[in-house]
Amino acid sequence: MAKRTIRDLSDLKAQRVFVRVDYNVPLENGAITDDTRIRASLPTLEHLLKAGARIVLASHLGRPKKGPAPELSLKPVAARLGERIGRPVLMAGDCIGDEVRRLADGLVDGDVLLLENVRFHPEEEKNDPAFAERLIKDSGAAIFVNDAFGTAHRAHASTEGVSRFVRTSVAGFLMEKELRYLGMALEAPQHPFVAVIGGAKVSDKIQVIESLLPRVDALLIGGGMAYTFFRAQGLETAKSLVEEDKLELARSLLAPGQGKLHLPVDHVVADRFDASANHRTLPVSEIPDGWMGLDIGAATAQAFAARVREARLVLWNGPMGVFEMPPFAEGTLAVARAMAECAGTSIVGGGDSVAAITQMRLADQISHVSTGGGASLEFLGGDVLPGVACLQDA
Ligand code: ADP
Ligand code: MG
Repeated sequence: MAKRTIRDLSDLKAQRVFVRVDYNVPLENGAITDDTRIRASLPTLEHLLKAGARIVLASHLGRPKKGPAPELSLKPVAARLGERIGRPVLMAGDCIGDEVRRLADGLVDGDVLLLENVRFHPEEEKNDPAFAERLIKDSGAAIFVNDAFGTAHRAHASTEGVSRFVRTSVAGFLMEKELRYLGMALEAPQHPFVAVIGGAKVSDKIQVIESLLPRVDALLIGGGMAYTFFRAQGLETAKSLVEEDKLELARSLLAPGQGKLHLPVDHVVADRFDASANHRTLPVSEIPDGWMGLDIGAATAQAFAARVREARLVLWNGPMGVFEMPPFAEGTLAVARAMAECAGTSIVGGGDSVAAITQMRLADQISHVSTGGGASLEFLGGDVLPGVACLQDA
């Protein structure tokens, strides 16, 4: 599974390098509200700049429906990146074409050029070979560096297609870090290995549960998805989130999961899906008519937290409750704190779980906070990611 990285490249001086990054940053009225993804790319860029390379950066931003959308321009990213690396970043008005050729030809060692949003061209998501070839030809690069783990599960022109038109395709440092940590879970986990899986729906995480179950010592299930398991066990779930069409599947996981799969023993139930709803904590065998389960209870939180703290490898994906509403956030907060306290290797993946960890300012106490939601799920589910498969093996 190991891939060549930019560390394996010698003599980058004066080389033009096409770097696919994930600058799909949150924007509000044209301003970047969180530049985590920009900062996550800095180790790769600094390495390349120090080696005297000439960098051409490509990224997508949002989901433009049809062609160029000014509100999804990467221009604000060029400005912020420039501040972060302490030198101006050139911005192209498109990702292919005459202007790109001219700007790329004018690059000197240590220059950085950011191409405009690759998704302004529908050919990007179609992985159109002619478009991929133009991305490379117009930027004049002979080396492809993929550092966009978050989009590596998509076979798009700039994440996969371009690899066919360069001499060398390698991973950047962010990609390398993601593969190393998430790879640990699949290949050489230290024990006890504990996985905590939550979130709204079991259907989003079936593949991950199936892939992790044989590898872990304990798999702790919380969040909305627990209710599909409860219903499968014949418990009353009232208005809780249940996926009727996944009951059979839940049953099929419960059987081999005996002894490993841990469901909540108590839960916080509410009479409405609302922060000001009436709520109380009950054993999971109890739920008033018309009520819904919105968080794990205190006893469950304590038991889950103890297992997390004692793990030598722990992976967490998906909140334990509707943590966006304070009365239903306690379970998620307890798991987050335990993750931070765990002395072993701790990995957090999934957009909402990462948001919870970040909100609590615990991110720096976690061994690895994954930048890729969907990509990390597919990777942990055992899928080969196209944006990784196209890179050269180490
Ligand atoms: P992640 O992004 O970390 O992978 P998901 O997207 O799968 O997580 O799930 C997060 C969502 O699940 C949150 O918006 C949260 O409110 C919701 N959720 C968690 N527990 C419940 C529950 N018991 N009932 C309904 N929704 C829930
Ligand atoms: Mg999510």
